[in-house]
Amino acid sequence: MAAPIHTSVKPRGGVAAMANRWPLLGQRRALVVYLCGIVALDLAAIGFFAVSSDLRWSDLLTFAALMACGAVCIEATRRLGMPAGVSRDLLSAWWLPAALLLPPVYALLAPIPLQILLQKRVRETVVYRRVFSSAAIGLAGCAASVLFHTVVGDLSALTAGAGRPILVAVGCAVLFTVVNTALIAVAAHTAAPDSRWREVLWNRESLLLDVVELCLGVLVAITCGLNLALLVLALPPVVLLQRSLLHAQLQAAARTDPKTGLLNAAAWQREADTEIVRARRTGETLALLIVDIDHFKRVNDTYGHLIGDQVLVGVAATIRSQLRDYDVVGRFGGEEFVVLLPRADVTEARRVAERLRSRIGRMAVPADDNMITVTISVGVAVMSMHGDDLIELLAAADLALYRAKELGRDRICLPATVVPPARRPGSEAAPS
Ligand code: GH3
Ligand code: MG
Ligand code: MG
Repeated sequence: MAAPIHTSVKPRGGVAAMANRWPLLGQRRALVVYLCGIVALDLAAIGFFAVSSDLRWSDLLTFAALMACGAVCIEATRRLGMPAGVSRDLLSAWWLPAALLLPPVYALLAPIPLQILLQKRVRETVVYRRVFSSAAIGLAGCAASVLFHTVVGDLSALTAGAGRPILVAVGCAVLFTVVNTALIAVAAHTAAPDSRWREVLWNRESLLLDVVELCLGVLVAITCGLNLALLVLALPPVVLLQRSLLHAQLQAAARTDPKTGLLNAAAWQREADTEIVRARRTGETLALLIVDIDHFKRVNDTYGHLIGDQVLVGVAATIRSQLRDYDVVGRFGGEEFVVLLPRADVTEARRVAERLRSRIGRMAVPADDNMITVTISVGVAVMSMHGDDLIELLAAADLALYRAKELGRDRICLPATVVPPARRPGSEAAPS
């Protein structure tokens, strides 16, 4: 299941002190209202279904067994750690059976103990995120549970092997995933209204994981419905899958700059080296760009570091959106980015650099009542013309960047050539 991520806005005045103790207060008002609304809905549903459900010992035993399996899963993967930001786990393997086999109140309650365990034993994060996660998963499980119990009256039919109840179970698992994803996507979009819905909702990797979770959840539900003791057989493969999933996420996190999502400097250098070796072997051209935001310190000084970070994120996203899939983009440090353009000659490299300069110049990041715009300077170096290995190309591009700064910024420079900036009507300069 995905964990939500929210960007905070800069709190002002007395709210700042409150926001330090209550991080939720530092969020956008729309987000606070949305999160509180979902949690209130979850509490109301717990109240409603608790009153209308009969307490049965067999249900309690099944619930306790599923929660124990979830706890073992968490404990067995705890030492691997958890990547920062959005992370995925396979705990739905235990939440989904609770939704399908037990009355809806158990689906609402199931995420609570496991989120507490994650908070205490794996990674401490702001409490409101855990509470919201619990509510979102709980409501999604409740929707799946209500639908399953309404359509399939006799729960033993699930384990009898008939096609229809199993199909309904799959449908309910899909509903669970859709409701949970939608609740989290709305939170992510409310936290960052500029983000595109497609980015928030669509991700091939996470879709694949949703399918795996769905299959696991239905299989564990059938196994558990057959005989509760069979959970002992289901547990090891789920733990193993969970471990390999975490391992893959940690590996990806070790290559990524957490702020911008681009490659970090070490990973970029490794990939750039590989590309350079390949270009040498095949005799293809290749170009390298160093992109530096102009007067970025002024943005920080004027609007604060949090807004500065949002500008960094915006610049990184714009750079990525303007390049081909096989171009290698990284954050080199601070407000500097590096781009390797395989198969680009000097004309292509200039064209790409000019496109980046013009797109970033037109990008605006909202801050308080202003729209912040920034410009960039770009140093360009081309393989064979300005260097033969990564160190030489980086040195040449850095020198070119230095010249671009000296000549007044907002321009592209090659080690020996200067491309003057075209006029960009209607754009605002960085604050001075
Ligand atoms: P120039 O046009 O010469 O490049 O000026 P500049 O102000 O962009 O360059 P300078 O090297 O003087 O300042 C870079 C600033 O970038 C200083 C530092 O506080 C800021 N910075 C570095 N990393 C981050 C970050 O992760 N977030 C934020 N908000 N600021 C950062
Ligand atoms: Mg700079
Ligand atoms: Mg710099």
